[in-house]
Amino acid sequence: MVELLKLYVKSKAKPSKNTELMGYIFPSENIGLYLHVPFCKHFCDFCPYHKLKYDPALAREYAGLVKKEYRLHEPRRFNSLYIGGGTPSGDLTLLKELLDFLRDNVMGEIALEVHPIDATSEKLQEMKELGINYISLGIQSLDDDVLKHFGRGYSAKTNFLALENSIKAGFDFVDVDLVFDPLAFADKKIQSDLEKIMKLSPQQISVYPMMRFSCTKFRNTRNNSRKELKIFDRLDEIADKNGYERDTLWTYKKKNLVGRYTSVAREFYLGLGLSASTFSGEIFAVNTFSMNLYRKRLEEGKLPIEIVYHLKGLQGALYYSFWAFYAGKLDFARLSRFFPDSSKKLRVLFETLRLTGYLSKSSMIYHLTPRGQKKLHQFEEWLTYAFIDPIWCQLKENARNFKDLF
Ligand code: SF4
Repeated sequence: MVELLKLYVKSKAKPSKNTELMGYIFPSENIGLYLHVPFCKHFCDFCPYHKLKYDPALAREYAGLVKKEYRLHEPRRFNSLYIGGGTPSGDLTLLKELLDFLRDNVMGEIALEVHPIDATSEKLQEMKELGINYISLGIQSLDDDVLKHFGRGYSAKTNFLALENSIKAGFDFVDVDLVFDPLAFADKKIQSDLEKIMKLSPQQISVYPMMRFSCTKFRNTRNNSRKELKIFDRLDEIADKNGYERDTLWTYKKKNLVGRYTSVAREFYLGLGLSASTFSGEIFAVNTFSMNLYRKRLEEGKLPIEIVYHLKGLQGALYYSFWAFYAGKLDFARLSRFFPDSSKKLRVLFETLRLTGYLSKSSMIYHLTPRGQKKLHQFEEWLTYAFIDPIWCQLKENARNFKDLF
């Protein structure tokens, strides 16, 4: 069944040639806003995200362009704002300018990815004063050898200090990001990292297997999902012992805690900035990776979209379902409300997955079983290598053709 699903996704997911969209039509509720700040002072070896070398003058110009992009969209209220990068915590002047512009249209959390080097008590205080109440601290590891392997460019001591400062700072929600590479290090390293961080009691810890993107130095190898799944089994035990439980596919949260730091598991979202993506239910679009093209399109009064998928029929509903299951469960009544034409077919699919042990059901809610969780882990990796990696490579290549330097 899952193999058939992969064939279906592969046959249908073809980008449209027409990227001249005038705007997006969203459902009337539950839309998140994502802002990409693409500047980094240091480039890490494992990182596939789109980034440019930090330059204060370019950052000032970027703020103006993002505002232009925002004004091309219909005014609306968003239920959250997630700011990612790049290193959005690296330039608080840029952040202030954009938050002053966007803040009034956001009803829920304002969430920021924080680089450990920026997590000093003073800077964290400034972030709070800007209205940021959720942070995700990207430490990746507490081990110097692992940090070196990822090419992070600083030591574990910085991470320990950043953790202490971030937890003391009093944000409403602190997530800590960890990455592990089972092809390079023994399982004990990630187990020990998780245990140490859980002792400090942040609300959430995200644990990702390192993906080996073609644009990184790890391009010639692929993940070993079986090995990763065994590691997650052990991490689940450590979490349970320390008062945490698996929340989304790759996050652990304190037991019975309401709320979650997530820029990905959202029903619908509008992306602003270079390389940001948007999902409206009927459309999945990715902005250009090229600063030159981004500037040009906005000066012409056009949305800076470079790839767009028109998700006809089942496709939009499947995309929605994938991220709902990534977060652990799917409310079938909500799905039917947003995608009424697809609900009959999806009910057949979910009932088949239930009968084969991947899902369970209570009233109208489908939950991922442990077996389903493992299958989704493999499916997520398949999606990354079948779609995300080639799309990102192509968009990076296009940006080079526009003579962007990064
Ligand atoms: S991991 Fe973060 S700091 Fe490193 S290059 Fe990527 S976005 Fe920049």
